[in-house]
Amino acid sequence: MKLIFLGPPGAGKGTMAKRLAKDRKIAHISTGDLFREAIARESELGLEVKAIIERGDLVPDSLTIQLVAERIKAGDCAGGFILDGFPRTIGQAEALEKLVGVDAAVNFGLSDEELVRRLSGRRLCPACGRTFHVDFMPPQVPDLCDSCGAGLIVRKDDQIDSIRNRLSVYQKQTEPLIGFYSRRGLLKNVDGAPAPEAVFSALKKTLALP
Ligand code: ADP
Ligand code: ADP
Ligand code: ZN
Repeated sequence: MKLIFLGPPGAGKGTMAKRLAKDRKIAHISTGDLFREAIARESELGLEVKAIIERGDLVPDSLTIQLVAERIKAGDCAGGFILDGFPRTIGQAEALEKLVGVDAAVNFGLSDEELVRRLSGRRLCPACGRTFHVDFMPPQVPDLCDSCGAGLIVRKDDQIDSIRNRLSVYQKQTEPLIGFYSRRGLLKNVDGAPAPEAVFSALKKTLALP
């Protein structure tokens, strides 16, 4: 099964992608995670994208497409994958079509007010990549990762100025993908507002999964 997860920042794509990838034993490809790993390693790519990501702009299509093209060649993608946060522009979507076909594009919807609440309360484990929320998905011990015990951080792009920019970048550059995939008969809409358990059930239902 080859899926795209669409939707604004904070809608819950990453949370649901991790869960579904584990459940279906398919690969989870988050371009945001790949960029953050590159930044942490201080690789050439990481140094190139750090400032762009921190202010909440999009990384240029050429770099992003190249990254995904390489990643989906890996063996773990043969049995299927979830692209989480890619494509984010029409140019990326057109490039992806030339690389590989997908079964569905799932669009997670959420109001701007709720997105801001989700993003400003998000906490990330820099060691294992697990995501929490101070109110909605709190760790057992405040500020520590349940999985590995590392101290949780706030992403630089989850500060309010960057959040506002990301929501406007989303509207201008990414929202048009809803029409793009709708015209191809691939779009599935999932309401991102309910509790995680309910969103996950709705996701499986819309994909006709047991
Ligand atoms: P995205 O990948 O779309 O940016 P995330 O999966 O990182 O979104 O979720 C954004 C924040 O909201 C995180 O802090 C996450 O823990 C929290 N979250 C995810 N899904 C839900 C949900 N259904 N209800 C409440 N909070 C959620
Ligand atoms: P979120 O779901 O909270 O918006 P991501 O982790 O998906 O965050 O992405 C973080 C940042 O990484 C984006 O704001 C952008 O700067 C960059 N990024 C991720 N995916 C892409 C993409 N497909 N195209 C361009 N930039 C991207
Ligand atoms: Zn951790």
